[in-house]
Amino acid sequence: AFPARRPSSHAVWRSRLAMTATTAPPRKHQQRPWSPGSWRTMPIKQVPDYPDQAELERVEQRLRKSVPLVYTGEGAKLKSLLAKASRGEAFVLQGGDCAESFAEFEKYGGENIRDTFLLLIQMSIMLMYGLGLPVVKIGRMAGQFAKPRSSPVEREKNKVLELPTYRGDMINGPEFTAEARVPDPHRMLTAYHQSTATINLVRSLAHGGFVDLHRIHDINLEFVNGTPQGKRFLEYATRITDALKFMSSCGLQADSPMVRQAEFFVSHEALLLPYEEALVRRCEITGKHYATSAHMLWCGDRTRQPDGAHVEFLRGIANPIGIKCGPTLSDAELLQLLDTLNPNNEPGRITLITRVGAGKVREHLPRLIEAVRRSGHVVTWSCDPMHGNTVATPSGIKTRNFDDILSEVKDFFQVHQEMGTFPGGIHLEMTGRNVTECVGGMNKLSHDDLRTCFESQCDPRLNASQSLELAFLLSEFMSG
Ligand code: PEP
Ligand code: MN
Repeated sequence: AFPARRPSSHAVWRSRLAMTATTAPPRKHQQRPWSPGSWRTMPIKQVPDYPDQAELERVEQRLRKSVPLVYTGEGAKLKSLLAKASRGEAFVLQGGDCAESFAEFEKYGGENIRDTFLLLIQMSIMLMYGLGLPVVKIGRMAGQFAKPRSSPVEREKNKVLELPTYRGDMINGPEFTAEARVPDPHRMLTAYHQSTATINLVRSLAHGGFVDLHRIHDINLEFVNGTPQGKRFLEYATRITDALKFMSSCGLQADSPMVRQAEFFVSHEALLLPYEEALVRRCEITGKHYATSAHMLWCGDRTRQPDGAHVEFLRGIANPIGIKCGPTLSDAELLQLLDTLNPNNEPGRITLITRVGAGKVREHLPRLIEAVRRSGHVVTWSCDPMHGNTVATPSGIKTRNFDDILSEVKDFFQVHQEMGTFPGGIHLEMTGRNVTECVGGMNKLSHDDLRTCFESQCDPRLNASQSLELAFLLSEFMSG
């Protein structure tokens, strides 16, 4: 499925990059004053209609006094890793739920979080091995609770009743009742507490020896054991174990924290600005403001208006920022966004996450790459092959086709290869659970299978086997 391998394609990309890179002078712009709440005077999209403003303010007040989820220095660290990815010295794997759910959290007692974390680690090991590059691991978790929607209302299938749309557990409930759909500010507090538990779990898994490469043979999800994807992973595991043994017998350090621990970051879409604003903290050392709700935040495709509230908020925080780039994003708008969000052209600050759909990459990606190149802006390019590839089955179930996902990733890599720029990462909706939400893949999930285990409250996710398969194909292709 992937294009024919070329000898050491990474080396080629890197040297071309070196030839074509322009060193842009820092841009000098008249900066308007910014404060964590300056977004409030700007036009805003996708905003919930809270019936009780006083209650909303009380919740915001509580969040303002809450413990930050991340330490500001971690955001700075992630930025330096993303800067490496912009230069082809690292690869970014970002993934997790479309929307985290309160119900899943209660039902699984953290097992779903652990499994998705484990899957990301497995994929990163395969990619690291294939690419010969460090992989920067970023979860879509510990805050991914607010969803932009295409319509403010929705109708249950074949029914006449129309209700306000579900906007994510942090805002309203997924149940199809008028009561559940009323935005409730207290949901922000539940989301905050769930996020603290989630980040605590992934930190302890990352640092507590759970993903020690010395016990890589145990890092396999139970239900992929024995499947072709599981066997492939075990082949990698054996090669890595051999390499570690060899290092030890040479007297080399096979015992460093790099081998015993994993570095893991969290991210979500900065959609619900009252929540984000309340969790902004000023770093006492640097004087900069950071969103402490996550290491990285991204701006969704529906809220990226250069003069809108979401861009205004993101402009003033020092975290690394993602921008979703859909097919309607014009070159001029993109440049305006880059000037506004990264006026000093700081490497690692901006990750452009393109999500144009299979078959449309050649129409959009070259023009965006060319515009960015001419502007001299440094960006990290990532590919979200999910959001341009959502389709409905004849019976009305939202799904995505593994082949479309693969095709978009493949074209993303090919276009970057042709243009001498670096494909810095991928952004996936995926879960370590054995769900049936996307069709296709080696296990050939069909439309009929979608009924078996469709748990996502929003968009369909790749399951563990499909995710491993994608990582495997990518790693094979890129090690060419
Ligand atoms: C998402 O990432 O879940 C999402 C809604 O993406 P986009 O803004 O690209 O549509
Ligand atoms: Mn989604």
